[in-house]
Amino acid sequence: MANSHLSTPSELFSRQHKPPRVPNLIGGSFLDSKSLTFIDVINPATQEVVSQVPCTTDEEFKAAVSAAKKAFPSWRKTPITKRQRVMLKFQELIRRDMDKLALNVTTEQGKTLKDAQGDVFRGLEVVEHACGMATLQMGEYVSDVSSGIDTYSIREPLGVCAGICPFNFPAMIPLWMFPVAVTCGNTFILKPSEKVPGASVMLAELAMEAGLPEGVLNIVHGTHDIVNAICDDDDIKAISFVGSNVAGMHIYARAAAKGKRVQANMGAKNHAVVMPDASVDATVNALVAAGFGAAGQRCMALSTVVFVGDSKLWESKLVEHAKALKVNVGTEPDADLGPVISKQAKERIHRLIQSGVESGARLVLDGRNIVVPGYESGNFIGPTILSDVTANMECYKEEIFGPVLLLTEADNLEEAINIINENKYGNGASIFTTSGVAARKFQTEIEAGQVGINVPIPVPLPFFSFTGNKASFAGDLNFYGKAGVNFYTQIKTVTQQWKDSASESKINLAMPTS
Ligand code: NAD
Repeated sequence: MANSHLSTPSELFSRQHKPPRVPNLIGGSFLDSKSLTFIDVINPATQEVVSQVPCTTDEEFKAAVSAAKKAFPSWRKTPITKRQRVMLKFQELIRRDMDKLALNVTTEQGKTLKDAQGDVFRGLEVVEHACGMATLQMGEYVSDVSSGIDTYSIREPLGVCAGICPFNFPAMIPLWMFPVAVTCGNTFILKPSEKVPGASVMLAELAMEAGLPEGVLNIVHGTHDIVNAICDDDDIKAISFVGSNVAGMHIYARAAAKGKRVQANMGAKNHAVVMPDASVDATVNALVAAGFGAAGQRCMALSTVVFVGDSKLWESKLVEHAKALKVNVGTEPDADLGPVISKQAKERIHRLIQSGVESGARLVLDGRNIVVPGYESGNFIGPTILSDVTANMECYKEEIFGPVLLLTEADNLEEAINIINENKYGNGASIFTTSGVAARKFQTEIEAGQVGINVPIPVPLPFFSFTGNKASFAGDLNFYGKAGVNFYTQIKTVTQQWKDSASESKINLAMPTS
């Protein structure tokens, strides 16, 4: 069972080196990597090197897979009630350490502490959902499919599964993956984002404290090489990926060529349609919160507003509200938005804003020159709004992933829906209206995985699934909810016959029929 003398995360991170090195987790032990290559984990508000993350060696990767493979036979046979109890304890421990986890998220990722709590909390909800796995994983049974014959199907775990994570939700996204996978009876290899590895290690430590046996969850750090090793390894049966399209499509193709199942959640360009009959203040508040929360670094962040008809007159109100937001280091209680993840991300966002201006968009709010006193070297960008944006502009075609809101217009709902459906991404889309007819038309015709009706960021709770349409998702079975359980299990169908067959003396070679 779990290692009983684990040190606290801070001890784990600072045993020998300065800056501290982030350990791998292999076969139940947190181990310093023998790698010669390390990547700095940088606090985006201060540029301080928080820790260093290893590019895990081949040998260490193989040891992690072998530990996961070794742990599988007994873990899959562990009663489901016991596996659920580990999750019950795990959710309690996440609650206990919520503040510590959130502080780590803010330090490595930059988002405000309140938002970091939300990051942990939305992942915690997946753990809570996994506590009911016995019901979620139930099979099906039909008696008397033929005389004296019954058929039933069982949802069995796959074996070793793996998860590859992005930087923007350091706690939530690992929690979308391994709690569901392991409660189904799988063992797991987690590859956190090299930019924000801390929360994954802390969560793994809690999972082991909760009773997760050694080898059931393993962590390997690194970037492209370790990802490719995961794709190529014959013992890994399934990969969950969340991140950009470049990485996602590469992983999808490479892993599928090896016969693995893959669920890949990727980039986004989320639109909100504002109908002129919508409630003005509630809508403007929702647009500002969804556009600039987490500095726009959410896959469900609002990036484009489509004003229909006279609702375009609300532009000045939107700008006024956005201007009032406070940009600050995430640990300050008054911060509405913190920095973006890296200097490179900041430069890229600046470039996309400039390209919008050069191709004719109106820069109605410019956050590029913001300085946060005391944090002059932080990657801060203030809320930025570009108006009169058209579909051919680079700033519209590319996912910006920063605090930049694009405004465009349509004469009617039909045109607004067409604009959105022509965009290559299909993660989320919302409509603000008081008309049920408009809302229903939107819900029916829009090509997006998550649809909001007067809800700006419609991220589903774990009893539903987080989906995605067009370039925002590759694969079939989505994350969490019923689809998530189906992803991490395969169906075995059993046909049984219990009848007195003594009287059957003939051999029958024809296809059996009932
Ligand atoms: P990213 O693709 O750069 O990194 C994600 C993971 O892939 C990391 O672990 C990284 O090490 C690895 N990786 C990156 N490039 C790779 C390559 N060429 N080959 C192999 N591995 C590679 O993504 P990110 O910048 O960390 O995250 C932001 C992106 O994630 C945005 O596009 C955002 O929309 C998306 N995202 C999507 C969802 C969703 O549910 N749809 C949720 C969160 C984030």
